[in-house]
Amino acid sequence: MGEVVWYRYGPVRNALISATLILAFFLMARPLKPPEWLEAVVYLSLAALGGFHWMKEAVEETLKEREININLLMLVAVLGLALLRVWEEIAVLSVLYGAAEGLEEYAFLKTRLSVRELLDLTPKVAHVIRDGKEMTVRAEELRVGDVFIVRPGESVPTDGVVIKGHSLVDESSITGESELVEKREGSLVFAGTMNHEGALEVRAIATHEENSLAKIVHLIEEAQEKKSNTQILVERFGRIYSPLVLLGALALLVVPTLFGGSLTVWARRAIVFLVAASPCALVISTPITVIAAVGRAGRLGVLVKGGMHLENLGKVKVVAVDKTGTLTKGKPIVTGVVAFRGREDDVLRKACLVEKYSNHPLAKAICERAGRVCEKEGDIADFRSLFGYGAVARVNGTTYYVGKIGLFKKAKQRELLLAQLENFKAEGKTLVFVGTEEEIDGAIVLEDELRPDAREFVRGLREMGVETVMLTGDNEATAKAIAEKVGIKKVMANLKPEEKQVMIKRLREEYGVVAMVGDGVNDAPALAEADVGIALKTIGVDVAVETADVAIVGDNLTKVVQALEIGKKARRITIQNLFFSAATLAILVPLAIFGTLSITSAVVVHEVSELVAVLNGLRASKS
Ligand code: ADP
Ligand code: MG
Repeated sequence: MGEVVWYRYGPVRNALISATLILAFFLMARPLKPPEWLEAVVYLSLAALGGFHWMKEAVEETLKEREININLLMLVAVLGLALLRVWEEIAVLSVLYGAAEGLEEYAFLKTRLSVRELLDLTPKVAHVIRDGKEMTVRAEELRVGDVFIVRPGESVPTDGVVIKGHSLVDESSITGESELVEKREGSLVFAGTMNHEGALEVRAIATHEENSLAKIVHLIEEAQEKKSNTQILVERFGRIYSPLVLLGALALLVVPTLFGGSLTVWARRAIVFLVAASPCALVISTPITVIAAVGRAGRLGVLVKGGMHLENLGKVKVVAVDKTGTLTKGKPIVTGVVAFRGREDDVLRKACLVEKYSNHPLAKAICERAGRVCEKEGDIADFRSLFGYGAVARVNGTTYYVGKIGLFKKAKQRELLLAQLENFKAEGKTLVFVGTEEEIDGAIVLEDELRPDAREFVRGLREMGVETVMLTGDNEATAKAIAEKVGIKKVMANLKPEEKQVMIKRLREEYGVVAMVGDGVNDAPALAEADVGIALKTIGVDVAVETADVAIVGDNLTKVVQALEIGKKARRITIQNLFFSAATLAILVPLAIFGTLSITSAVVVHEVSELVAVLNGLRASKS
């Protein structure tokens, strides 16, 4: 199917062949005037050739779902035409409808399959070492535990751990980051990434079907099937509307004839009405857009987990963004130590002893800077993480706190010490205080580098008319300084993790639909609260981050902007399509009732409008 062109796709091909023959027979029939039975046989056979696919579907669908669907409406129209013995029109209706349905199906399949292009990033073969010998096998044959070699310039066939060698790998295909990543023994490498100059020996940790790239593709395909609210609404509408169309056609047939109208005239009108009133374009408008947009996002590394989330993306008015690890790189480094009591080294050492078992990025930075001094003198007891504040532990019998100034409410000279440090905050640096409840020993100054695309991210959102708000647990002055650097005007600081969730609710009341961008681990409650939770840095195994509605492969902030753009475009297209298809119905239906529309023109307009809706929907897959 991947390679099939549209006119070779079964239903379309049959309809085209049939249409050509219909035309040929029609032209011949004019001068030759064949008997009616011959016309009937030829036109009915051609109708069957061009319409077999949808007629079969009409029967199957009706039997399965026991509901009146569009295919059934068309089938009733065909049967009506048969009673009127207008064979030519049966052929035209069957074939044109068949062609339109076929093209639509083709568009769906093709759009779905385009996601599979991602899999082309992985090579078809792998160089495995088995029984000490290197051999080339098909990538699908790789098993977990296999050792394979990746030479310079080759891409990685499946996820694995490097067991030998050293190289630089281009992970841009799955992270969007153009910087090369260094890989050595113990590093993880991912399917579809490109090895540069070194050679690597890798032990496979996933099969070809289950590697990170395959998981991404699978996730996108699943997401394409998940309906948006509009889609659900339209379907619900269709379930009421379609039977009404059938009833309407029946009424059109029966009522006027009871009052002396001509049966053939009104039967015709009833049939034209059936065709004209079928909501084909309406029903197709939304799903094709969802599939196209979700597929496009997926190919860009933005995993939108379903039509509903796509729709919400399109409505976002404000984006809340976590500071640490989202606007900043999340890898703070110690840039200074201020001692109020004793030596600077002591401040650092105490901090590190308390933080030793913490996995907060600030703790890691402190211990890294403290280095080996931390390993000695380690009688640490009762370590506790104080979420959103810091940490506490007993070091050599004394209870020490490390973290925000709020932990030292009872400390002497607190305000005086704080005043000395204002300038650090104004530079956007984070301060971590160290001391006992009564006395502050000193402070550690940390700096977390901004992500290079943070400014562009904020600007991109502003250009779309979307406000950005920073949420952070850090202090106000530091947060404001960073916000200013990246161009964010609104800051909510000093938040505990659960308060971030409350702020999301508040933002919703103030602005409307809220998106939250965070790292998916610390920010899980806020991500879940937001109308659209967007998680960054999902790579490999983490792809399926549960709390996120949109997962960004890699950690490129500008992809968030792209995600919103795709959502907004899909929304525009959906609205256009709904309007367009409703307008078409509003024009065709009265014309059908008043008898100004012939069967053929009703069919043509109807099918063309359906294809226009499909083509418009497909625009969502392009930039
Ligand atoms: P953010 O909202 O910026 O991701 P957190 O909620 O993790 O931050 O923490 C909020 C603040 O609490 C940090 O800015 C820091 O000042 C302090 N803090 C939290 N955990 C620690 C820790 N283990 N060591 C030092 N300070 C901490
Ligand atoms: Mg955080």
